[in-house]
Amino acid sequence: MFDSLRRWRRQRALQSLAIPEGMWRTALESLPFIAMYRDEELARLREKVVLFLDAKSIVGAGGHEVTPIQRVVIALQACVLVLNLDLAYYDGWESIVVYPDEFVPGWEWEDEAGVVHVNDEPLAGEAMEGGPVILSWADVVASQDWDAAGMNLAIHEFAHKVDMRNGTANGCPPLPRDMPPNVWRRTLHRAFDHFEAKVDSGARTAIDPYAAESLAEFFAVLSEVFFVEPRLLRHEYPDVYAQFTRFYRQDPAARVALLRDHA
Ligand SMILES: [Zn+2]
Repeated sequence: MFDSLRRWRRQRALQSLAIPEGMWRTALESLPFIAMYRDEELARLREKVVLFLDAKSIVGAGGHEVTPIQRVVIALQACVLVLNLDLAYYDGWESIVVYPDEFVPGWEWEDEAGVVHVNDEPLAGEAMEGGPVILSWADVVASQDWDAAGMNLAIHEFAHKVDMRNGTANGCPPLPRDMPPNVWRRTLHRAFDHFEAKVDSGARTAIDPYAAESLAEFFAVLSEVFFVEPRLLRHEYPDVYAQFTRFYRQDPAARVALLRDHA
């Protein structure tokens, strides 16, 4: 029963919420790394985007009005991560809140001594456990150009959501049966220790040093690199790259090579 309801809802969404061709093209063109995708992948990505937009609400805050193209651009980047995974990786939360620019989260946290602090540092993005993804539109736009920004905000925050699917973000998302969690953890830990030592030594890193903050940030930042600048991750941390290809069921560096062959 549940399955047929799900299928019906899926069919209805795909028919009634189709994205106009012009808007789809414009959204794709704003994300140069997607130029590497095969037509078959793009067709599946488009379906996922429609289903994602059907399942989530994307709302403006701080005076920001979310346009239809902005919805597609955000959903596209969310769906890149789950192109070959079940959309259920994004279950358990409902909305994406978009501010015009950086925002002050205002949430409180308690330190070990029981003192309550208010976080008033402006943020470009945040993924809240069981809650929304919050994005600064200005930063989504700025990070669409990897060569200039060296980061991708939307992929970063959605990677946290994938990680949070089995609880607190800790760099270990729910893995498929054929991937032993201890191998994943060992691989990520080893790379993290190496990266952290490099950042601590003051050396310049090709990967955003913010990745040294924690294993959760390491996973989110490396996911950005995996999808947008895959050869960099394969070069810096081949073992992590191999684990990511198995987890995400994609080999983005192979797409780059293919594109080169055809050029
Ligand atoms: Zn983060």
